[in-house]
Amino acid sequence: MTASPTATSPLFSTFSRADIAFERGEGAWLYDTRGEAWLDFGAGIAVNSLGHAHPHLVAALTEQAGKLWHASNLFEIPQQTRLAQRLVDNTFADRVFFGNSGAEALEASIKTARRYHYAKGQPERVRIITFEGAFHGRTLATLAAGGQAKYLEGFGPKVEGFDQVPFGDLEAVKAAIGPETAAILAEPLQGEGGVRPLPPAFLRSLRDLCDAEGILLILDEVQTGIGRTGKLFAYEWSGIEPDILAVAKGLGGGFPVGACLATEEASAAMVPGTHGTTFGGNPLAMAVGNAVLDVVLAPGFLEHVREIGLKLKQKLAGLVDHNPDVFSLVRGEGLLLGLKCVKPVGDVVAAMRAQHLIGVPAGDNVVRLLPPLIIDERDVDEATKRLEAAAATLAPPRDPKS
Ligand SMILES: *Cc1c(COP(=O)(O)O)cnc(C)c1O
Repeated sequence: MTASPTATSPLFSTFSRADIAFERGEGAWLYDTRGEAWLDFGAGIAVNSLGHAHPHLVAALTEQAGKLWHASNLFEIPQQTRLAQRLVDNTFADRVFFGNSGAEALEASIKTARRYHYAKGQPERVRIITFEGAFHGRTLATLAAGGQAKYLEGFGPKVEGFDQVPFGDLEAVKAAIGPETAAILAEPLQGEGGVRPLPPAFLRSLRDLCDAEGILLILDEVQTGIGRTGKLFAYEWSGIEPDILAVAKGLGGGFPVGACLATEEASAAMVPGTHGTTFGGNPLAMAVGNAVLDVVLAPGFLEHVREIGLKLKQKLAGLVDHNPDVFSLVRGEGLLLGLKCVKPVGDVVAAMRAQHLIGVPAGDNVVRLLPPLIIDERDVDEATKRLEAAAATLAPPRDPKS
């Protein structure tokens, strides 16, 4: 075994990294520096939405790289306007602001909500209601929104203006709404929190509450957006529409990009000077984002995600049945699926790695399966085989498959 690099690494030790480095990828497969193949059911934490080295994305990026990388938002960026228009045409939104990450998309969303009330003559409305188990990013404001004590400790006063309520508790939401409330912020399906969905009926109740109270509904679809759950955005499953939405991970297929989408009304107060970014919406990111949408919006693509997601979920239900001492249930939507573990999730992820299968740990002792959206049935079968093998190393299966 190689010694841990942490002691001598020139990097901040903020990540406990596995001693594996990937050199190249193709579709749902990664190849490490030793030439070994890995089945990637993590997709860079729901980022590589179209898998690795997708020819259409590679072509879009290299073509743009030969023309122009950066121009600044002091000028028109036609690729940016085009991507915004396509997002507008396919969602509730009328306006888009581009950044480079999920946290930036959330920062823009929070600022937009506060500014909306300020412009309406209610500057005291700054508070935002969030849910326990949420994850909204690592900037000071998005950490305060997420409210997780372990992430906030040691970083000075928590940014003011976030009120957290228990997950899925409508009465607690009602009780938390006051004269200073600006918005409710929720993930339709918590990713880091352990693949925990908010029921569609609950989202509809949030929408009704927001309308009755004159406050805004912000959805964090950084992880669930761009086809991950089998719809372009997860809110579509509930039949309601938000006022503001944050998206990032899957939108760039691996190139850093994030966006805040909003209605005309919610975004009207974001006038020149109120917000900005140097890199956000640059031609490279926009070229790739447009290429991702070419694929995801093509007829049949989202149906494929729903169908293959259902197949995977059925296989995982069988896996849970065979291995009751390792897994207790499967949940999630589309290709954002979670296996709740009986064994510690760290042990399960390690056992999967021993089978060269990548999954991502989440809260609530859940391992997330977030494969690229382009996987086929063979990938599902291969992943299931490797999961059965991994589980068998942790506890004897009840009904071992031959
Ligand atoms: C990953 C994630 C974020 C933060 O995105 P970054 O790009 O890491 O800043 C925010 N919200 C959700 C739901 C996420 O999954």
